[in-house]
Amino acid sequence: MATTTTEPEQVDVLICGSGSAGLCAAVWLDRFNVNYKMVERRDGPMQIGQADGVQTRTVEIFDSFGIAEDLLREAYHVLEIAFWSPTPGEPTSADTPGGIKRSHFAADKETEISRQPHVILNQARLNAILIGELAKDSRDSRGPPPTIEYSTEVKGVQVDPATAQDPSAYAVQVDTVVNGVEKSFKAKYVLGCDGAHSVVRRSLGFKMLGDSSDAVWGVMDVYPRTDFPDIRKKVVINAAAGNLLIIPREGDSMVRFYIELPAGTKVADIKLEDLQARARLIFAPYTMDIAETFWWSAYAIGQRRADFFHQDHRVFLTGDACHTHSPKAGQGMNVSLQDGHNIGWKLGMILNGQAPHSLLETYIVERERTATELIDFDRHFTRLFNSKYRQEHGITPQHFADQFVKAGRYTAGQAVQYDASAIVAIGDKDKEIAAKVSVGMRFPTAQVVRYCDAKAMQLVKGLPANGRWYIVVFAGDVQDPESAARLQKASEALDRIAQSFTPSTADADSIIDRVLVISSDRKKVEHDQIPEFFTPVAGKWRMKCPTKVYFDDESYNSGHGHAYEEYGVDVKRGALIIVRPDHYVAKVTTLDDVEQPIREFFQGFLLPQV
Ligand SMILES: Cc1cc2nc3c(=O)[nH]c(=O)nc-3n(C[C@H](O)[C@H](O)[C@H](O)COP(=O)(O)OP(=O)(O)OC[C@H]3O[C@@H](n4cnc5c(N)ncnc54)[C@H](O)[C@@H]3O)c2cc1C
Repeated sequence: MATTTTEPEQVDVLICGSGSAGLCAAVWLDRFNVNYKMVERRDGPMQIGQADGVQTRTVEIFDSFGIAEDLLREAYHVLEIAFWSPTPGEPTSADTPGGIKRSHFAADKETEISRQPHVILNQARLNAILIGELAKDSRDSRGPPPTIEYSTEVKGVQVDPATAQDPSAYAVQVDTVVNGVEKSFKAKYVLGCDGAHSVVRRSLGFKMLGDSSDAVWGVMDVYPRTDFPDIRKKVVINAAAGNLLIIPREGDSMVRFYIELPAGTKVADIKLEDLQARARLIFAPYTMDIAETFWWSAYAIGQRRADFFHQDHRVFLTGDACHTHSPKAGQGMNVSLQDGHNIGWKLGMILNGQAPHSLLETYIVERERTATELIDFDRHFTRLFNSKYRQEHGITPQHFADQFVKAGRYTAGQAVQYDASAIVAIGDKDKEIAAKVSVGMRFPTAQVVRYCDAKAMQLVKGLPANGRWYIVVFAGDVQDPESAARLQKASEALDRIAQSFTPSTADADSIIDRVLVISSDRKKVEHDQIPEFFTPVAGKWRMKCPTKVYFDDESYNSGHGHAYEEYGVDVKRGALIIVRPDHYVAKVTTLDDVEQPIREFFQGFLLPQV
């Protein structure tokens, strides 16, 4: 029987579960210096993960945190998909080896979807990279972060209705057991990041709504000895004997097979030998000798969503705790991590006194919609993979392949578009001002040249994920007196606005940061033509910050990025784009009369400071 420790421990945020969602939220809380803790049932970090597909959007998030290098170096990069279908005239029975032949190749993603690649890396390694970012300053780099308490199992969560409306109250109690000893926490906010069987969700009485289909799939990570020519590519095989998806794993040797099993198969009855035998049938006439199986599993496909995502805006569900679906489109880990990414900075701003508690409503609005879309997409995608459904609906291998490629933007994580809210201000003229930017979607990138050191770089590198809002000003040609005067006037207004939301003791750019993109010939522009707003005095040494000004110009060794064209901004008119800390576009406007609309926008969710 569990014994009890004395007083509950108080933390501002308690994260239940150190999976993808919890860790990503923790990276933000860490950056905001929030008093948080993460409790995890396992006795240490994840060792073998199930997920491995990392969307371009997730790579972009790692890049914005400044932690993409290891991920990109270690991962398998998915560049091409090969589609295989039955050889015409061969046997078509599911239990007879037929023949397969390659129908065609396709690019894994269209170039304009993202500049980052789609990669494959074990979830355990991804988690380890996130853990590496936590509490960096206060620990020996080899030790676990003090913010994660392992071997701590959450048993129940309750919100105190009497104090739930008071933002300063520690209104949530979380009961845990640590090595047989009961321990309680009192928190202002709790994140239920505890996966598909979430105790947090159950403890709140929330239900998962949805269904499960009769489609059963097996998955195995294997070392194959084979003469199949595309074994190191992402491959979709539609054979008479079933469907099989190959995902090559990092490290050049291991591959993952997702294998469709015949209708009526029961998950509990599936053995490894069945999966291996089915793989051999599907690959025939190519040989498929499995030298070793590293890991395998089987699952029935279902799509479910929690009926509620929060309790009193105090406890929030994220990731698998509030949406589950099939793993084939490689979405779960990514969408879960992105849930954590969405809520982390919002909690950071609230707990730092920068934004009101009501900002959290945008988590619900934005991520409920994302979860619903994910479930709908997965239902459609799963049907496409189902042989019986394809036969009944006359879906040809070519149609299947076309649909698969078409889904690319969605599966890359780049189709997310948030609805209008306090932090997404959609206007009628947005596309006239910046044709290739969509308010509510993530801010695209283009190559620019940094003014201070002539470095060619992607513009998003100038917007690191440090919790700040960014005002990105496309000023046009500052050699043109009219454009220069317009920039000067706008900068003075923006300075007044930024000051009113920034504590007088903090750096001028610490809440609202700024980035300037000029279209002039870089070598002809002098420093005194850049308004001071873009070179604020900041940091320990009170130096002028030189790194916020960029040119859309030819670089020495990397060509011209044509950034104005890439964003669809007219050089004469210019544009002002407000970008959220998570890189979603919040507002697009012109540089004329900025004071009132921009102030009103920030007043919608930022607290004034003195
Ligand atoms: C075979 C397979 C392949 C997959 N492939 C992919 C893929 O390629 N790409 C992709 O994006 N997704 C994939 N997924 C889905 C992906 O694994 C999940 O969607 C993802 O892990 C969800 O992240 P999470 O943080 O919400 O939950 P999890 O990663 O499940 O993390 C939850 C954490 O909470 C802890 N926990 C649970 N209960 C408690 C408790 N009571 N107290 C304390 N701690 C607790 C757990 O130990 C765990 O560490 C796959 C899934 C499967 C099954």
